[in-house]
Amino acid sequence: MPKVIIIPYNQVEKVCQDAMTFANSCQSDFTFYILPPTKKVTSILNGHTAEVFDILKYLEEQKLENGYEKDDLILTFYNGVLQASSHGLSNLFCAGSSYDDEYPCTGVISLKYLGWEVLEEKYNYEVQKHSILHLIICGIIGAYTHLQAHADVGCLLDMNLRLTSFNLKLRRGYYLCSANEFGCYDKIKTEKYGKAILQLCDRFKTNNYQTIINELIIGDKIEVGDISNNSGQIIIGKNIKISDTKRVK
Ligand SMILES: [Zn+2]
Repeated sequence: MPKVIIIPYNQVEKVCQDAMTFANSCQSDFTFYILPPTKKVTSILNGHTAEVFDILKYLEEQKLENGYEKDDLILTFYNGVLQASSHGLSNLFCAGSSYDDEYPCTGVISLKYLGWEVLEEKYNYEVQKHSILHLIICGIIGAYTHLQAHADVGCLLDMNLRLTSFNLKLRRGYYLCSANEFGCYDKIKTEKYGKAILQLCDRFKTNNYQTIINELIIGDKIEVGDISNNSGQIIIGKNIKISDTKRVK
């Protein structure tokens, strides 16, 4: 089974560490690793703005340098504006490439436009951890399946054009939507590692998870920033085609 390598951003390094420990302790299909964030100021990951493709290319180089396999996923957090200029897209928060595409199994999550009060220390640490895990699962689905992002129903494939809808995703807890919705649960079973991904979702949703989420999110204790200009999550396809995303002028 593939490895999942995470490059945290400083601000979320501790949360990522704990998320990894948790992920490795409750399942054995995927092995999670952390690569320390680069200190190099000239690194693309420390810039204010970056093109998605440049970051994915950089990540592929990191995979080679560190001796990881093509099928291993490398996922980085990035605290800058993420754009795909050639497609007229900006303010992306989650973008990646799948195992059979250019820059295979690479992904980036921008913290910039998450505007993420959720990760401030005043909020419950467990919620922070599960927020990170939700994003990582989105990266895993992007890398190992061909499922497409869709309108928000609380599914992991929600496009999340608004951050408020990320709360819905957290509340549903690693949910893949039913046949009455967009059919992600059925579709994922036919995908590479689909069953392992379903199992991963199941394990992450621990017994006390729903209580934590209910208290903090249904209780509206978390306020999230407005990211209405956000382009949501995208997967970059074979012809570097970005589908079903909102164009930002
Ligand atoms: Zn869905």
